[in-house]
Amino acid sequence: MRDTAVFESVQRELNRQRNNIELIASENFVSPEILELAGSVLTNKYAEGYPGKRYYGGCQYVDEVETLAIERLKKLFNCQYANVQPHSGAQANTAVYFAVLNPGDKVLGMSLADGGHLTHGSPVNYSGKTYEFHSYGVNRETEMLDMDEYKKEVETVKPKLVVAGASAYSRIIDFKTMAEIAHANGALFMVDMAHIAGLVAAGEHPSPFPWADIVTTTTHKTLRGPRGGVIMTNDEELAKKINSAVFPGMQGGPLMHIIAAKAACFYEALQPEFKEYAHQIILNAKALEASLKEEGFRIVSGGTDNHLMLVDVKASCGISGKKAQRLLDEVNITANKNAIPFDTEKPFKASGIRVGTPAMTTKGFKEEDFREVGKIIAYRLKNEETDEVKNECLRRVKALTDKVTMYADIDYLKEE
Ligand SMILES: *Cc1c(COP(=O)(O)O)cnc(C)c1O
Repeated sequence: MRDTAVFESVQRELNRQRNNIELIASENFVSPEILELAGSVLTNKYAEGYPGKRYYGGCQYVDEVETLAIERLKKLFNCQYANVQPHSGAQANTAVYFAVLNPGDKVLGMSLADGGHLTHGSPVNYSGKTYEFHSYGVNRETEMLDMDEYKKEVETVKPKLVVAGASAYSRIIDFKTMAEIAHANGALFMVDMAHIAGLVAAGEHPSPFPWADIVTTTTHKTLRGPRGGVIMTNDEELAKKINSAVFPGMQGGPLMHIIAAKAACFYEALQPEFKEYAHQIILNAKALEASLKEEGFRIVSGGTDNHLMLVDVKASCGISGKKAQRLLDEVNITANKNAIPFDTEKPFKASGIRVGTPAMTTKGFKEEDFREVGKIIAYRLKNEETDEVKNECLRRVKALTDKVTMYADIDYLKEE
């Protein structure tokens, strides 16, 4: 008997994904092929170990799949060793820490308040509870990474590991200079490029290789693959330590269906069309930035070089990020509240929202569509909460989403 309760919820989620303007900067829409592989029979297979060295029989076909994923990932980012088994970005980072650190070791990461990630040493995260994390951040004036402060922190803290990368930072990160400073002070340099991996793959953001000792990323953000993580390096010794940290250190059986979907993701990212996609993400972000600025919004750091930006809604229209998120939700625009650097509001309320273009670029939005998105956001946030304003926004959102279709063949409620 079909579990209708769950399928009905999934169908409602599909409809939400079809009808909303998705601006969450960390989300995307995978291709039908990736979706098919993520839902494939490989979910049934146990494959503890690595290709050719498994603890279970019957692994010959999943070995082929994992080998394809590894080889394609190495080609995509031009590196020598890759582990495609981490279940998520957080797992990938934790495995790296487990591979190269001992509890209590000093690490330097970007402050969460300035755009870093939970796994870069937040006190509520395993990382912050286990290692002695210190942080660097952005300059108060420019709201961009403060390289002088970074250098000073590296020199005074003398960390064993430096972590670069961010979840809410709209500017190019100079991995080369950061690596040089880390290495000059005897630290290992790791880049977590979770947000920008797709841009790096397409040459739209400088690569962390060859500067970084270790690179981690999620596969589901700009890289447009299934939910998961990977770890890469050019150092054979580090590669060995990382492999044993992932399995048997932290994980049991790998998610072979997800590894198949990752292999397809890397294949897609190696095609010329992916370069066009990544370039369009940036053109669209610039269009959204220009449109929001014309409407009088303050963009943190003055703009964006990548796929996302932080909009200071408190300075621009006197409302919190939390309220802005709700007002936009009510007109089918999905974004998330986000603290801005030196925020005076608590993170749960926040002064900003984070908006990104990867997901709607996948659906086919171009610059003109994103200019209209900026205008709708302004019309919604700058006016009183009336039904008239709300209905006008809903009408304009629908006019935009009606232009694009996605997952047209999928119907979770079909009669079997
Ligand atoms: C999203 C993100 C992660 C975590 O990924 P999960 O798959 O959610 O665990 C790690 N680091 C950075 C910088 C991220 O943006």
